[in-house]
Amino acid sequence: MKTSEDLKQLLDRIDHRGYPAYKDTRGVYQFGRYVLSIDHVQGDPFAAPSKLSVRVPGRTAGFPKELFDNKHKRVALQDELTRNFWNQIQQYSFQAKGSGKSGIISVTRCSQEILERTACEINPSSGDVTVRFEVGFPANGRTINARELKKILYDFLPSCVERALFYGRLDKKKIQRVMELSEDQAYIREQLETMGLVAFVANGAILPRESGVSQRPMKGAVPFVSPQSMEVTMELPYKGALSGMGIPRGVTLIVGGGYHGKSTLLKALESGVYPHIAGDGREYVVTDAAAMKIRAEDGRSIRHTDISMFINDLPNGKDTVAFDTEDASGSTSQAANVVESMEAGAKVFLIDEDTSATNFMVRDELMQRVIHRDMEPITPFIERVRALYEQFGISTVIVAGSSGAYFQVADTIVQMDRYVPREITEHAKTAARDYPRLELPKDGPGEPSFDRKIRRNPGLKNKGRVKIKTQGRDGVVLNHETIDLRYVEQLMDSEQLTSLGNIVKYLEEDVFDGRKTLKQTIEELYKKMDAQGLGAVCDGSYLPGNLAMPRKQEIYACLNRYRRLGTTS
Ligand code: ADP
Ligand code: MG
Repeated sequence: MKTSEDLKQLLDRIDHRGYPAYKDTRGVYQFGRYVLSIDHVQGDPFAAPSKLSVRVPGRTAGFPKELFDNKHKRVALQDELTRNFWNQIQQYSFQAKGSGKSGIISVTRCSQEILERTACEINPSSGDVTVRFEVGFPANGRTINARELKKILYDFLPSCVERALFYGRLDKKKIQRVMELSEDQAYIREQLETMGLVAFVANGAILPRESGVSQRPMKGAVPFVSPQSMEVTMELPYKGALSGMGIPRGVTLIVGGGYHGKSTLLKALESGVYPHIAGDGREYVVTDAAAMKIRAEDGRSIRHTDISMFINDLPNGKDTVAFDTEDASGSTSQAANVVESMEAGAKVFLIDEDTSATNFMVRDELMQRVIHRDMEPITPFIERVRALYEQFGISTVIVAGSSGAYFQVADTIVQMDRYVPREITEHAKTAARDYPRLELPKDGPGEPSFDRKIRRNPGLKNKGRVKIKTQGRDGVVLNHETIDLRYVEQLMDSEQLTSLGNIVKYLEEDVFDGRKTLKQTIEELYKKMDAQGLGAVCDGSYLPGNLAMPRKQEIYACLNRYRRLGTTS
């Protein structure tokens, strides 16, 4: 292997030459206690910065095995080290000077959720720590300024690496707490299963966020307190006894006046599919990992989806067993979201009336009297929600502040009262008794058909390589095809969208062949990604440091919104 000294000599040779000479620096160099790899060199000072990575051998990094000897511990430690590295480089970014992006040093900025990312990876057997980051190679105009790059590589980085990635230099108590929290969170998730719960919200949790643009906890918020009747206590391995609200399986209704905290609770449940960092306020809010937010999404495309459990006999005679549209209505989009989530294996639906299509959710008594059932293509969700639980084992948590109709079908009713939940099941059921009984359709829903086979979209590769561009949290573009993901609300981070772009590209280029169903394809792919990480879906000579793992459910959601999905059946 070449050494840091070799790289220094190379830099001296190319100093003051044209920018492309930087390309020669690509390679792997031994730097004292770690290995620096220059994976990709930018073409000019204004282009996206160069891609670098650092690998610290396990023995040097020195993290005790028990800090990363299972997947969730390892992911939590990786997350912590990424944050450390981010903190370290802040003081150095743009300290080396020059034109364009000269001197920038950047790494993933982690969110409140703890996600598996390529920014930092710990090898489970060797304990080697790899961090992937970007550096803007400095230039004056378009002329190489090697002196400034030497500052970065020989002064700044060694200090960042040692202070962020060497166990001996870190606050050991803090690292220990990261591991303990991760174990406690995993334990709660296990307990959900054994205790028959879909979610747990600890007493003392802070659910509201600071603002619409900040995911940090709101200051001075009212801490969560479980209603006594729903309180459960878990004995966590490290924290010990922890009590909170256990939301049981079945149909749970959250009611209450406007502004009393209903949507805030539901949002916390949505993001509870991921673990949160200490201090977030939601670190002990844990939801079934396969819970899906279901909402209306006018305008989305639907490909060969069986929405017949909700929609039938459309006036235009359109097939609803293999329903296709480029421009779904509120109700058809929400129906598709339900059925596709069933396909994706969701065991819990999370629904807020604020973001639902009213005609999908309910049809009131008076309307039923005036417009006969036979004239209405929509079987509303209220008439299916019990069957979804009883036939398919799918629980639902619904926020409904304005319609009492769901009282009749709910198992558990919670009222939010000035941000404090109260259980009012008995009271609400009694009140509902005087009202006409909800009439359920004679036939239960049939098992939706999930037999969509997917063939390659020949149009995508016409112009050679498929280019992926991520539009923040909103969508991902493959060549000129935009996949709109704004309303897939449990995508937490733009890096998950970048991964989804790579996944679609990979499936289009290497997998879709018209023989396998969407379900078979995604299940196989996810197994592979679980074993091999995000590298399984990336081509190219190096692994980019800007990918985060999406859930399997969001891979389904992404492909289902891909307008060029080549469905056949
Ligand atoms: P709803 O859905 O019942 O109308 P929201 O959940 O949208 O109510 O909450 C209304 C407002 O109250 C939001 O601005 C939210 O940030 C704030 N809020 C929610 N929960 C709390 C809490 N526990 N403490 C303080 N403010 C809260
Ligand atoms: Mg609301």
